[in-house]
Amino acid sequence: MSQSFPQRYQSRVVAQHRLSESGYELVIERRGMEFQAGREIMLHGDAPEEDRQYSIASGEQDEHLHLVYRLIPEGLMTPKLVLKKAGDPIDFTGPIGSFLIRDFLAPLVYFATGTGVAPASSFIKSHPGLNLTLVHGVRERSDLFYREAFDPATYVPCISREQGTGHFEGRVTDYYASGEWPASAHYYLCGANDMILEMRRKLLDAGVTDAHIYSEAYYFW
Ligand SMILES: Cc1cc2nc3c(=O)[nH]c(=O)nc-3n(C[C@H](O)[C@H](O)[C@H](O)COP(=O)(O)OP(=O)(O)OC[C@H]3O[C@@H](n4cnc5c(N)ncnc54)[C@H](O)[C@@H]3O)c2cc1C
Repeated sequence: MSQSFPQRYQSRVVAQHRLSESGYELVIERRGMEFQAGREIMLHGDAPEEDRQYSIASGEQDEHLHLVYRLIPEGLMTPKLVLKKAGDPIDFTGPIGSFLIRDFLAPLVYFATGTGVAPASSFIKSHPGLNLTLVHGVRERSDLFYREAFDPATYVPCISREQGTGHFEGRVTDYYASGEWPASAHYYLCGANDMILEMRRKLLDAGVTDAHIYSEAYYFW
């Protein structure tokens, strides 16, 4: 996929899907934008202070752009985003960001919280042969967005607030602490900033080189 420079597109909503109590998927027209898996777009709101970035969850070859987001009731963008329906206009600027696959042959270990799974979804849809292990931390099982995209053998759900799901109970950092991890893998961290900071410290302590740790913080506590 060739590199393409960010530009502003006037697009339209194709569909809006509710994925869980507070999780949604927005599908929008691609308008011919080329992108590499891991990139984002900036959705434009009614005023510049409402503009927000979203990772592209769909594959490089997919017809439309798929975004996954959580409704933040006190937020500026997402309460308006949930009201969007098919045919509504929506502007975006993209592609932006640098959370890209750097080595297609190296094992890739990806730790996500919540909607931080979006780039991993694009990675695997764009490059199905990728050696990807995904550790996905969510509060409840219904927040395991896009789980069907991943190989169950290398997909580890971590559920922090629901018991009896049959999955690991705890946070992704707890799961990391419970196992052995290859120091030579490339590590991807995406989602809540506190998870990223904690995982980064643990990986560096375990001897993973800084150059092989990539992170994308969606929000800060
Ligand atoms: C590079 C990048 C990529 C991003 N990609 C995505 C994505 O793919 N999907 C996605 O849902 N969000 C993503 N975000 C976050 C997104 O840009 C918005 O911040 C988020 O959707 C909330 O927007 P808002 O205007 O409704 O709330 P805001 O006004 O932005 O935030 C209100 C408050 O909610 C907190 N908050 C923001 N997001 C969350 C969350 N998910 N859970 C809990 N608290 C939160 C903020 O820290 C703030 O305190 C990304 C952010 C960045 C920087």
